[in-house]
Amino acid sequence: MVPALRYIRGACGPALGGFPGGFSSAGRPAPGRSWPLCQGGRPASTRSFDVVVIGGGIVGLASARALILRHPALSIGVLEKEKDLAIHQTGHNSGVIHSGIYYKPESLKAKLCVQGAALIYEYCKQKGISYKQCGKLIVAVEQEEIPRLQALYERGQQNGVQGLRLIQQEDIKKKEPYCRGLMAIDCPYTGIVDYRQVALSFAEDFQEAGGFVLTNFEVKDIELAKESPSRSKDGMKYPIVIRNTKGEEVQCQYVVTCAGLYSDRISELSGCDPDPQIVPFRGDYLILKPEKCYLVKGNIYPVPDSRFPFLGVHFTPRMDGSIWLGPNAVLAFKREGYRPFDFSARDIMDVIIKRGPAGVRAQALDRDGNLIEDFVFDGGVGDIGNRILHVRNAPSPAATSSLAISGMIADEVQQRFKL
Ligand SMILES: Cc1cc2nc3c(=O)[nH]c(=O)nc-3n(C[C@H](O)[C@H](O)[C@H](O)COP(=O)(O)OP(=O)(O)OC[C@H]3O[C@@H](n4cnc5c(N)ncnc54)[C@H](O)[C@@H]3O)c2cc1C
Repeated sequence: MVPALRYIRGACGPALGGFPGGFSSAGRPAPGRSWPLCQGGRPASTRSFDVVVIGGGIVGLASARALILRHPALSIGVLEKEKDLAIHQTGHNSGVIHSGIYYKPESLKAKLCVQGAALIYEYCKQKGISYKQCGKLIVAVEQEEIPRLQALYERGQQNGVQGLRLIQQEDIKKKEPYCRGLMAIDCPYTGIVDYRQVALSFAEDFQEAGGFVLTNFEVKDIELAKESPSRSKDGMKYPIVIRNTKGEEVQCQYVVTCAGLYSDRISELSGCDPDPQIVPFRGDYLILKPEKCYLVKGNIYPVPDSRFPFLGVHFTPRMDGSIWLGPNAVLAFKREGYRPFDFSARDIMDVIIKRGPAGVRAQALDRDGNLIEDFVFDGGVGDIGNRILHVRNAPSPAATSSLAISGMIADEVQQRFKL
């Protein structure tokens, strides 16, 4: 069973707008390649959908997939602003299948991560997607970190994480011969996967079940159809008009938004609350030189420090056999700005490391300027708000949790919109 959705305040009001011009359909997509206007198997107008999902990252694609598998008779479309799917957070992350150890017991993150990890492993097995359950050590290197490590271990137990053990120096050495530490949590359930590959597989499932993916569709307006629903047959059925930056439009009955770094702006476009706002945190990675990769076997993380957001800089093996070190967390000057202003690790680079890619986290901030820890999902009121569900805060471990989140969203959409 997935937990119930948690709402924050939502105040959507009616908005004005024009009626669609629409555009024509194209053929089926080539998975993993550029996705033009893509059409699934069901005969349906690409201009009108029962449900539109905005955002073709892992959360949007998992949600679209869950919805169409549950409601095969509905026409469902995904709108993505880029020409390719899953190239923002979903394509720029550590690729770790988190076990759920870190998160506050009973929080959505704790529940959905534990469920989501199991679902991701099962999904990858079913689909033949490569993953490695390579485990993870969270290592205390200073005496003062040990109480925090023990508290984290307790938390993991409370969250129901499988196989956790507290281990001492000699066992750390057995697992990671080049890692020095006083005590560690051994977390064998942690794994790695390429989340973009998983997301593209979700997109494939979605399309095979009859869903539509429209790329190069940057949503700019979400409005009510001009014609009064009571006077327009089509307006009655599809009262919401979604317009892109090129002036093209689709109509729909219901909307789910999963816009990652733009989730606040998309909410505002629909007349819903602009809060919580998104603060972009860039994370840079370094890559170990191939001849040094033997130094790291599995994931190696520090004991998190509550004074800082996120989990701390860690070593992570990648599916291609490389080892990444990162990510740090710096305020990004741009939501999709992946290039650092400056870099000051030259000495380290010369020895074992070269610079790797970066990712930008979409982290929501409350009105008092505090980072919002948990996942946040939000609906609204009013003509548009009654028909929208927003994913407002889905930072890490939302990739791990994507299938569990999608189950929860499908439940909520079904209940809220009486599908
Ligand atoms: C550095 C880093 C490391 C991470 N490590 C991990 C990890 O190891 N494990 C883990 O589980 N999670 C990790 N995460 C978190 C994980 O990547 C995200 O939680 C997850 O990818 C969120 O998916 P999403 O679909 O919500 O967002 P995204 O993947 O960002 O997708 C949102 C989509 O919405 C689209 N969009 C935005 N605005 C519009 C618009 N106006 N019109 C149309 N489309 C729009 C975007 O183009 C984008 O494709 C990490 C994240 C980062 C940045």
